[in-house]
Amino acid sequence: MTTFFRSRLGLKLFLSYLAVIVVCLGILAFSVNLAAPRAFARHLANMATMPGMGGMMQQGRGAGGMMAGFYANFRLAIGEALAWAAGAAALAAALASLLIARQVILPVQALKTASQRIADGRYHERVSLPKFQSPDELDELGQLALSFNMMASRLEQAETLRRQLIGDVAHELRTPLTVIRGSMEGLMDGVLPANQETYQQVFREAVRLNRLVDDLQELSRVEAGAYELKLQPVSVEGLIQATVASLGRQYEEKGVALSVSAAPGLPPVMADELRIGQVLTNLLINALQYTPEGGRVEVRAVEAQGMVRISVADTGVGIPAEHLPHIFDRFYRVDKSRSRASGGSGVGLTIARHLVEAHGGTIWAESAGANAGSTFSFTLPRATTRSG
Ligand code: ADP
Repeated sequence: MTTFFRSRLGLKLFLSYLAVIVVCLGILAFSVNLAAPRAFARHLANMATMPGMGGMMQQGRGAGGMMAGFYANFRLAIGEALAWAAGAAALAAALASLLIARQVILPVQALKTASQRIADGRYHERVSLPKFQSPDELDELGQLALSFNMMASRLEQAETLRRQLIGDVAHELRTPLTVIRGSMEGLMDGVLPANQETYQQVFREAVRLNRLVDDLQELSRVEAGAYELKLQPVSVEGLIQATVASLGRQYEEKGVALSVSAAPGLPPVMADELRIGQVLTNLLINALQYTPEGGRVEVRAVEAQGMVRISVADTGVGIPAEHLPHIFDRFYRVDKSRSRASGGSGVGLTIARHLVEAHGGTIWAESAGANAGSTFSFTLPRATTRSG
């Protein structure tokens, strides 16, 4: 009951019916007041014209007939009043139902039509909301329309992403497949020599396809949240040392110096060691890939605002400012041909962002521009809170 009165729609209905009742009662009272005296006046006038009426009344003769006249007149008056009231009430009810139809039925019909259109695949469909009203001021139907529009825009977003993904994947598959097909055609036509180099070219593209499929599988897993984070206190220094050790050889082979600078007394972080190891490995492999021989890469770790920040700073090719906002987007590459040629599928950073955000942290990239090196940083929550 209380929810009925708290709800704006309930209040609107109540007020509309109340209005009908008030109008009816008002008109009824007005008409009765108007009609009854007229009836009495008519009756008295009749009485006055009757010869010897006063005497008859005094003697009690003809009292029955007089009462019957009274009664008939009274009924007539009530009938008149009710007829007026019924007419007015019908008019008020018609007006009220018109108003309700406008306020309730029209939005419901609009919602029905829009949902049918969305079901037909027209995801841009929206219902109109009352103007000049903040979301808090909307009644239940307004709120429903607002939620409906939100749902529709999410569906549209998901649909756009799905189309984009299909387009991106088709585009990514096309390059290695074209190379494999071209090489095979060349081999069959005898244009390309059947030697080690040709076979290796085909093999490299097959490996690239393989990596792309693996990366896509991993991306869809993290995007759908279809993995479990085994969160536990993890030593940041231990994690960095283990990752750096696993990549040491690759760095040595390319001639890029790799160092670690961790602030003393870092608290452990709450993380899934394997997943965060995956993020750090990805950043270190990228840093190595985009840093020419003779360059330096440093892994830094500091505590900041209840979080631990881990950064990978390199002296490599850098990232021009216009590319920085897109660097974590799926399949985004700054230098498309070079990145693709080096085997990068362009989803490593997208996966890293999902994993860091799943830990409650953030990841970002900084660079002073082309050839000025880049720094990739991410934060993780500390595992323990220190007192004082
Ligand atoms: P990829 O597999 O292509 O490396 P990522 O998602 O890991 O995909 O990286 C996306 C793009 O970001 C890369 O193609 C590259 O252009 C740029 N990038 C990543 N790390 C660095 C870095 N350390 N220095 C310069 N550019 C980088």
